[in-house]
Amino acid sequence: MSKGAIVDEVTCIGCGLCVQLCPKVFAMQDDGKSKVINPTGDEEGNIQGAIDACPVQAITWTEEKTA
Ligand code: SF4
Repeated sequence: MSKGAIVDEVTCIGCGLCVQLCPKVFAMQDDGKSKVINPTGDEEGNIQGAIDACPVQAITWTEEKTA
């Protein structure tokens, strides 16, 4: 896997969806924002699901997948 997830903690509203969908990748911090604990900790499809589910588009890939 050549890319990983990052969370923009300023944009994150702490809805918790990404933590529910990918608990191996995201964790909720004490300040109520999501944090990446393991950028490549789940299948890309599952991480993409969290990216798609985030209501404020706070999650992005760190780099494009290489062919
Ligand atoms: S889904 Fe988006 S807004 Fe919700 S906790 Fe995760 S990063 Fe934050």
